[in-house]
Amino acid sequence: MLLNMAKCCCVAALLLVAACDNVAHDQGVHKEEFLAFGTLVNLVIYGESEQQAHTAVKLAIADFMQMHQAWHPWQPGALGDVNRSLATGKSVKIDASISELVNKSRMYYASSKGLFNPAIGGLVKLWGFEQSELTAIAPPSHKAVEQYLQSNPQLADVEQDDLILRSRNPAVLLDFGGFAKGFGIAKVVDHLKKIGLHNFIVNAGGDLQVVGSKGGEPWLIGIRHPRNNGILASLKMSGENSVFTSGDYERYFIFEGRRYHHILDPRTGTPANDFQSVTIVHPEAALADAAATALFVAGKDAWIAIAKSMGVQQVMLVERNGDVLITSQLHQRVEFTNDSEQVIKIVSLQ
Ligand code: ADP
Ligand code: MG
Repeated sequence: MLLNMAKCCCVAALLLVAACDNVAHDQGVHKEEFLAFGTLVNLVIYGESEQQAHTAVKLAIADFMQMHQAWHPWQPGALGDVNRSLATGKSVKIDASISELVNKSRMYYASSKGLFNPAIGGLVKLWGFEQSELTAIAPPSHKAVEQYLQSNPQLADVEQDDLILRSRNPAVLLDFGGFAKGFGIAKVVDHLKKIGLHNFIVNAGGDLQVVGSKGGEPWLIGIRHPRNNGILASLKMSGENSVFTSGDYERYFIFEGRRYHHILDPRTGTPANDFQSVTIVHPEAALADAAATALFVAGKDAWIAIAKSMGVQQVMLVERNGDVLITSQLHQRVEFTNDSEQVIKIVSLQ
């Protein structure tokens, strides 16, 4: 998710200027779009003055650009520097935002039983998913994947003493892409609340957090269909809540007729293949994002156990054959766009 940002940053900078004249108005609603975190970000703000909306857009763009640079796993920047030190076995001083990412991801690493493992940046690279263009790539050889698995990088290999980080395993390469969007959106939401906004949505490529309502009416949110580019289901949301989806359609390449995508199973070293998409609804955006990735990896046999262990109840999963699994807690809130087209199986998470 952080991968297409080099080109996006320039565009975002241009949009920052354009944003001042380009805020759309729709009965008290301001809408603005810009590129950040490798995706199109939509900011929807209700009931604020034009000036306040412009201030919010500028803040959000600046925050996203700063986070993108600091958290990029391999480009120059705070996390890139940390990774270069960890690879040599040296201790490295980290800043507070990297420390927060490490600490939060440790919780998700533990509650997902290691299926959410941000130490697998090396595997992401082995598959070529660090490249911005995924054309003309082939999967790595079985031997290369086997060798990687033997190096066995785990977040547990990373020791932290206050702001000093060290890895016992040089194969650890930290990539927080599995939850950085959620963590980043939550940070932008906090910032916008601090400047006095009460009703808005921060939406990064369909992953979003809502705050408040649209003049007392809930926000209407669409969940993307993993195959036909349309909307699979919609739900009404108000207060503080978020929706995050991990899908095999986000970043992938086709090789000899087979799809290889960017959500990797640390147990096999290959893309997790049971689902086309996993959607989580939860008030905490960082958890929703991490859980969407973890349940995708967990697959059909383990997703219920991992959902319970991570503390998420509102889950929708699209299986490989297009059937939909949905928890009763989420089913009661969503409306399917065209129920006749897919089999919907309701699962009770007790
Ligand atoms: P998206 O970024 O498309 O919304 P995800 O939130 O699932 O989707 O994040 C996918 C990214 O997470 C990958 O590009 C990679 O950087 C990272 N990742 C892949 N597999 C794992 C995993 N098992 N655990 C943690 N992070 C992962
Ligand atoms: Mg995720």
